Amino acid sequence: MTSLADAFSLYPLPLREQRLLMQSITGDSMTTLVGFTERPVDPTALNHFQQLCQRRLDGEPIAYLTGYREFYGLSFAVDPRVLIPRPETEGLVDWALTLGPAQGPWRVLELGTGSGAIAITLKHQRPAWQITATDRSVDALALARHNATRLVDDRLIWHSGSWFSALTEETPPFDLIIANPPYIDPLSPYLHQGDLRFEPMTALVADHHGMADLQHLIQQAPAHLVRGGHLLLEHGHDQGQSCHTAMSQAGFTATTRQDLAGLDRLTGGVFQ
Ligand code: GLN
Repeated sequence: MTSLADAFSLYPLPLREQRLLMQSITGDSMTTLVGFTERPVDPTALNHFQQLCQRRLDGEPIAYLTGYREFYGLSFAVDPRVLIPRPETEGLVDWALTLGPAQGPWRVLELGTGSGAIAITLKHQRPAWQITATDRSVDALALARHNATRLVDDRLIWHSGSWFSALTEETPPFDLIIANPPYIDPLSPYLHQGDLRFEPMTALVADHHGMADLQHLIQQAPAHLVRGGHLLLEHGHDQGQSCHTAMSQAGFTATTRQDLAGLDRLTGGVFQ
């Protein structure tokens, strides 16, 4: 019978990726997949593994093939309905956690939640916060709710709709509004590379060189924030200055922060 080592020699893919694909099929631990490669792989699993390897070679993101992606230590179900959570977005969560009370209640709104990674992670870290999450895509919202049920016993409030129009008339103001909106220029060559080719365009691309949704959120946020409330946004590496300026004009005291690569990635503001 074919061993794990044999299976891992079939395709020119990084071993790390092959192990993740195999793990999603067999449920084996990484210890087994790394240290006990003489173990046999049954023919059905091998067949499935070969199909996933071929799809990976054709460019499909690992996270869509395994169905999961780690974000802030939690395992989120993902599929082509939603953007795959990125490490740089963990910086947005880090920042939010420093702003609100560690124990007490706080009202948080995440717009365009996708897989729910930001909203659900905040709920996981700060159970006392009241968190509302929205998405224009009802398909995305269904997956986010599935994740919330798995990870935090679905203790969030959900609304479908585009940005602030998802909210009802009587929604009270928030202490924090947070979003990782689409911000890539429709003409960017980056859209035709790697994982992005398989991700939902509506989660990636925005008009006005990627600034349209960021600007909309900055302009509309004050009407939905308490005085002293916060707006935190992820944006492209070349959009820090524009976001900073737009926030200042909208009445915020703004700060731009960098991602792990040292690129402008997050801009946050306090509404004065
Ligand atoms: N950070 C993602 C990327 O550049 C884009 C996510 C987004 O548009 N919000 O791959």
